[in-house]
Amino acid sequence: VTLGILRERAPGERRVAATPETVRKFIARGARVLIEPDAGASAGFVDAAYAEAGAETLAAGDILAACDMLLSVQPPPDEALDLLKPGAAIVGLLAPQASDTRAARIRERGLVAFPLERLPRTTRAQSMDVLSSQAGMAGYKAVLIAATLAPRFFPMLTTAAGTIRPAKVLVIGAGVAGLQAIATAKRLGAQVEGFDVRPETREQIESLGGRFLDLGVSAAGEGGYARALSDEERAEQQKRLGAHLGSVDVVVCTAAVPGRPAPKIVTQDMVAGMKPGSVIVDLPAESGGNCEATVPGETRDVGGVTVAGPLALASMGALQASEMYARNVLNFVSLFVDKGELAFDWSDELLARTVWPERETAAASAAA
Ligand code: NAD
Repeated sequence: VTLGILRERAPGERRVAATPETVRKFIARGARVLIEPDAGASAGFVDAAYAEAGAETLAAGDILAACDMLLSVQPPPDEALDLLKPGAAIVGLLAPQASDTRAARIRERGLVAFPLERLPRTTRAQSMDVLSSQAGMAGYKAVLIAATLAPRFFPMLTTAAGTIRPAKVLVIGAGVAGLQAIATAKRLGAQVEGFDVRPETREQIESLGGRFLDLGVSAAGEGGYARALSDEERAEQQKRLGAHLGSVDVVVCTAAVPGRPAPKIVTQDMVAGMKPGSVIVDLPAESGGNCEATVPGETRDVGGVTVAGPLALASMGALQASEMYARNVLNFVSLFVDKGELAFDWSDELLARTVWPERETAAASAAA
């Protein structure tokens, strides 16, 4: 089997889908690996390291024409899909439904697409879970951005110029990104609070040394995720949160509901009620953000409150985000690369539930 890796084309994307380490392992399993020049350069992996691992360097067009499987981070450009062999596989964060032309090309060319965001989040799939590995980096970087923007220290300090009280940091949403944000703010010495609508997060927040902020709303949904709130629940959450925000120095937003735009939790009025010098960093800015004042990709002053909506957060830690992503991809692809051959076992629910378009398979219908 021949694997292809291209330099990512999406603006701001610095990650790469394979590292010299995973290339070496693919080759040990009998694969041939083709890589475009500079594919890993922005993540810190030079061409020579890939060559040493056994990869062959080729131009993008030649890779696309020759590979049986393309490994990517972002969806490859539509023109790239046209150059793949019919029946070739693609693995990556492909968001197939996000673009009509992409979906049509995948269908028309008979490509076997594995959008990794569809991978079920079961125990067995943990080592392949790119959403978790990348969310961890995003939560970490979001806090560092907040620490940089805040006109204050995070830790408590006793100095000759007086005692500095620790910053009060509130993390909204305690999934994978939120818990890493809480841990990071805690390590910087802040006083950290967190809340989520899934009740099991109380214990997780407390185990990291944070305080659980109880806003009286519980909304666990399917598959361990949250569901969207009803109008009454949202009103209750906003009333209690609004009253609390005036005492907070930093807010890090991380709330998300699968398949929907990010829930709006911090309103314009709440921002207006915060102390001047406060900072809001809105991690889900890409899908609109949790704060009404967020402009994706911008950092703005809103009546003395700094509101940041940084994009491509995982890419800010491109080296290790790529290492984790590439290992996740290696673990997933190992399900169907056997002795150098591609062999799809559609009775395996990880394959059957991830592949797009969906196939009529026993495992997929059992899961549905
Ligand atoms: P996510 O990115 O979809 O959401 C982030 C967080 O926002 C979630 O914790 C969610 O509950 C919270 N949220 C949604 N609406 C909210 C609101 N109105 N107010 C406050 N918070 C709100 O979720 P995620 O981080 O990808 O994962 C969430 C869950 O999935 C976690 O329980 C995680 O442990 C679980 N998970 C399990 C596995 C596994 O078992 N292998 C792997 C990954 C994740």
